[in-house]
Amino acid sequence: MSDIEHLRSLIKDIPDFPRKGIIFHDIFPIFKEPTATEMFVSHIVNHINVTIKKKVDVIVGLDARGFLFGPMVALRLNAAFVPSRKKGKLPGKTISADFKKEYGVDTFEMQADAIKPGQNVIIVDDLIATGGTAAAAGQLVEQSGGKILEYIFMIELTDLNGRKNLAAPVYSLITFN
Ligand code: IMP
Repeated sequence: MSDIEHLRSLIKDIPDFPRKGIIFHDIFPIFKEPTATEMFVSHIVNHINVTIKKKVDVIVGLDARGFLFGPMVALRLNAAFVPSRKKGKLPGKTISADFKKEYGVDTFEMQADAIKPGQNVIIVDDLIATGGTAAAAGQLVEQSGGKILEYIFMIELTDLNGRKNLAAPVYSLITFN
């Protein structure tokens, strides 16, 4: 079994969560296995080292599951980790961007001085569906003057083609229709 097949086998598909008709892809079992976590983080770091020819300055992780592995990837790359958080959680001066959820609108915030103009940024999250969440984080990076090198997701729901809403390359490890 390949590394990716092993990671995929650990993801649990939970029907009717958080609502009836939704299949939730639960990534937490991966983090219960240190060897799988190591495999996952190493795969991402290796992908970045092989394909991105620039120094990565900042990994931006999205609230909340992007916080699980963003700092691990950042540490291996000797890069900064910056969180994109749901509204009202970050102290000090912040910048914000709205995004559409299935029901209503949500807002991401980032500390205004977290990313410096010209820094090279990679944005990470557990899953891309419509791409709206990641696009909002991308707006924050751009407002800060950062350059988005890539978006990286553990899981991509390919039928929704969320990558078309993102203005930088997208890499995903595992795809579901
Ligand atoms: P999007 O904005 O439609 O791309 O939705 C992506 C966001 O929804 C991410 O922040 C994910 O964490 C979350 N999400 C949607 N479906 C799932 C799922 O099945 N498992 C885990 N997270 C999900």
